[in-house]
Amino acid sequence: LSCFEGVQQAPPDPILGITDGFLKDTSPQKLNLGVGAYRTEEGRPLVLSAVRKAERMVVDDATRNKEYIPMGGNPQFCALSAALAFGPDSDCSREGRLATLQALSGTGALAVGGAFLARHYQASKAIYLPVPTWGNHHGVFGSAGLVVRPYRYYHAPTRALDYAGLIADLGAAEPGAIVLLHACAHNPTGVDPSPEQWRGILRVVQERRLLPFFDSAYQGFASGDLDADAAALRLFASARGPGGRPQELLLAQSFAKNMGLYGERVGALHVIAACPQVRGRVESQVKIAVRQMYSSPPIHGAAVATAVMANPALSAEWQAELASMAGRIKAMRAALVAALAEAGAPGSWDHITSQIGMFSYTGLTKEQCIHLRDKWHIYMTLDGRISMAGVSHKRVRYLADAIADAVR
Ligand code: PLP
Repeated sequence: LSCFEGVQQAPPDPILGITDGFLKDTSPQKLNLGVGAYRTEEGRPLVLSAVRKAERMVVDDATRNKEYIPMGGNPQFCALSAALAFGPDSDCSREGRLATLQALSGTGALAVGGAFLARHYQASKAIYLPVPTWGNHHGVFGSAGLVVRPYRYYHAPTRALDYAGLIADLGAAEPGAIVLLHACAHNPTGVDPSPEQWRGILRVVQERRLLPFFDSAYQGFASGDLDADAAALRLFASARGPGGRPQELLLAQSFAKNMGLYGERVGALHVIAACPQVRGRVESQVKIAVRQMYSSPPIHGAAVATAVMANPALSAEWQAELASMAGRIKAMRAALVAALAEAGAPGSWDHITSQIGMFSYTGLTKEQCIHLRDKWHIYMTLDGRISMAGVSHKRVRYLADAIADAVR
């Protein structure tokens, strides 16, 4: 008998489980719209040309070695990541109030930030998450030791932001509570607040003295423009509260999607503090959390991202490739809406083009998603979310015919 006899089988991961089903499906027509990774028109993963070139530079650099790097990671990577997120001349950076640590992609930054807050943030242990949100937020923050609470975000009948519900819920949050905000391209809905709504969210955050924790997994992927997609984050980062007190916040930044570095696990955790003294103390405690979790981050992926960002030609090439990925996704949104009209799918599908980012929240019911899977070999999460990156000119009519069949 095993000493692990009492261990129960874990439930399958809702997203990774989709890929399992897709791989087992032998139909030549099958289509995987479950994964949150970019695909080319041919349906293949893409390594960016700027990344390939940077990688060659890193590998050929004979001065590099494999020594451990500090707990906080590669300093040049941290400085360039901060400039990418907050802008090249941000107040928080110039005033010495910004702590930046390299992290194991976005998830690792969320986990380290969560662990730091659970141990050292005194005002509250509650973190408010939008409904719905990226599924892993619950597990990451729950296991960090925070108490997860919901705030209203998506309004299903209008397929738009439930702004009144959001403001009401954050306005009733306990003072000092943490609030998770998707910096842009909200996953899974593709619905973001307008600039004016962001100002309203900042107002309620300041009134309740909430601590914003931004999750930025799609900078540049929503609009194709790195600066435009950082606008909400920068609004908060440059805000001052009563008495000129700088707005404090955390940011989990991922390079998985915008640089296509998924499996390299490249990201950063940033903390903006009110003054350099507090920043120093916070940074020292975040480093202890890192030390206890994995000691120090890996070198390769961050070196590649650094080479891209530090080299003006490679950086320009990267941004052009990023704009082209975002452009293909936008084109697929328009193509799907047109194909749905041609297929005679009842109802309005305009939300597909008004939503942004990698995903579209189609509004399909669980039963309709199962119908698409069992009859049409189309795989997606059962909440109706499809990855627009998985759509192509070649397959869009098939997808539209299938959706039209499912909703009829
Ligand atoms: N946050 C959001 C909203 C995401 O969609 C994702 C990935 O899909 C992540 C965080 C984490 O991604 P990674 O850990 O690969 O950077």
